[in-house]
Amino acid sequence: MLGNPVSPPPHWQHSPMPTTDPELTDVIEHAAAAATSARSRAYAPYSNFTMGAAVVSADGAVVDGVLVENVSLGLAMCAERVALFAAVTRGIRPAVLAVCSKRTGGELTLPCGACLQVALELAGPDLVVVAVDPDGEIEHAPLRSLLPRAPRRNTPGYD
Ligand code: ZN
Repeated sequence: MLGNPVSPPPHWQHSPMPTTDPELTDVIEHAAAAATSARSRAYAPYSNFTMGAAVVSADGAVVDGVLVENVSLGLAMCAERVALFAAVTRGIRPAVLAVCSKRTGGELTLPCGACLQVALELAGPDLVVVAVDPDGEIEHAPLRSLLPRAPRRNTPGYD
């Protein structure tokens, strides 16, 4: 499942992940698989840009989410935030956030800025963000490298 990154942006390369950590690799693959599975349940009749997401805690609990659109377009909710909010509801602290969708401009699609900001609030800068496409290509990076100077609490988290 874990493929070679395809043309990772420079900031990903400058934020090396401990890919030699087999436990982290397992959690990343688990999150990517859950996001990929969830994607088929997305409700995206307007954009047809189906997206699935999954949050995985450090101890392996999984919560997924899907993009949910609405005829009143501003009411749509990203798959990542659906998963993050469900994790909060269940008392699960995210360690990994994965999103699965088609590529954008040839690149794996990352969570939008709003979702990254929400993830920062709930999980802190060490959250591992994973992007996976339907072919199973994966990239991952710590949230701190994707949103380096965003406003945040001094002690991130909700516990
Ligand atoms: Zn989003």
